[in-house]
Amino acid sequence: MHNLHRALGLATTPSTTTSVFDIAKQRPVQPVTLVRPHAASRAARFFVEKFPGRSMYAVKANPSPALLQILWGSGITHYDVASIAEVRLVATTLPDATLCFMHPVKAAESIASAYFDYGVRTFSLDSVEELEKIVRATNHAEDLTLCVRLRVSSEHSKLSLASKFGAAPGETKELLFRARQAADALGICFHVGSQAMTPEAYANAMERVRAAIVDAAVTVDVIDVGGGFPSTYPGMEPPPLERYFETIHRAFESLPVSYSSELWCEPGRALCAEYSSIVVRVEKRRGDELFINDGAYGALFDAAHIGWRFPVELLREPESRSKDMPFSFYGPTCDDMDHMVGPFYLPADVQAGDYLEIGMLGAYGSAMRTAFNGFGSDETVIVADEPMASLYVGDEREVASNVVTL
Ligand SMILES: *Cc1c(COP(=O)(O)O)cnc(C)c1O
Repeated sequence: MHNLHRALGLATTPSTTTSVFDIAKQRPVQPVTLVRPHAASRAARFFVEKFPGRSMYAVKANPSPALLQILWGSGITHYDVASIAEVRLVATTLPDATLCFMHPVKAAESIASAYFDYGVRTFSLDSVEELEKIVRATNHAEDLTLCVRLRVSSEHSKLSLASKFGAAPGETKELLFRARQAADALGICFHVGSQAMTPEAYANAMERVRAAIVDAAVTVDVIDVGGGFPSTYPGMEPPPLERYFETIHRAFESLPVSYSSELWCEPGRALCAEYSSIVVRVEKRRGDELFINDGAYGALFDAAHIGWRFPVELLREPESRSKDMPFSFYGPTCDDMDHMVGPFYLPADVQAGDYLEIGMLGAYGSAMRTAFNGFGSDETVIVADEPMASLYVGDEREVASNVVTL
């Protein structure tokens, strides 16, 4: 175990006994990232067993090699990559994984290297220019799976992905037709936006897919419903994932595609949100504002920039007996923007020197950390206790019931 931890760049704390309270007792000066391999593994097995098709992991949500190994070990064989660096990372970490290059706007050099150096055969596109680029860069390869990305609504999602990518209805007919001629297998893909709060988002997008197939009258081999599967956060508790899977399955079954066509999805957030959390120290209290040692330039980008609320818990023993009240946070950098408005509910007597756990940071939080202004830390510890909330266990850890929802 020692060597494994070292190889993965993790702390060598014994993984079976360490709990979040043990970490706080050590009074770390820097923020500490806690990882929960069992939570990521549980999420991956859930998708592998219950999604009615193939689940590929969207690597951008959290590219940690340790996490990639866990997902691979739990049955995730396909990986959605968006840059040549992600191609290299996954190819090096998981040499037998299948990579799909699902960014619709790529450098020709990246396409060529992915195809010739790393055996990538699946590419997405949303324009005729990109199609021609892929055909040229792969030297007119005849073994390509080409996925045409449709533009769909993000109205049911917390983070829009509706403006940047995707062919508009007027463009899809010609694009599907031309991609069909260049491809060995033709796919249609979309992304409903991240943290889709209702299965309706997928049902509506599948209607766009149906219209596009009927309009272009092409044979489609792959339907890829993209990412957007939610996790659970204060004030954002989605319906069970099974409901999403049922809706998608029903819509897929009624599409005019051949019996041998495949259904794919590309979850990022849903596979890794529960994987990690952080332990931070309160450095100062000013009324209902807490100055903590991680923030917008660390793991809390979404909390600062889009007002995302993450679950929080005061790590004090014996437990505080004060009632909860709402707080906002300031991060450690000298920048006014390093502010997380919350509200984050904590006992009213929280004070400088206290430690907090901030949960559900495995997706995007960990991936977007920087070292701006000399803050941040790579210290990572494996813990065995449950995440602060979970979509995959009925019986959540006790603190989950303290999470205030508005
Ligand atoms: C970001 C992204 C995903 C993952 O999205 P989540 O909302 O994290 O599930 C999947 N596919 C593509 C093409 C993406 O850009």
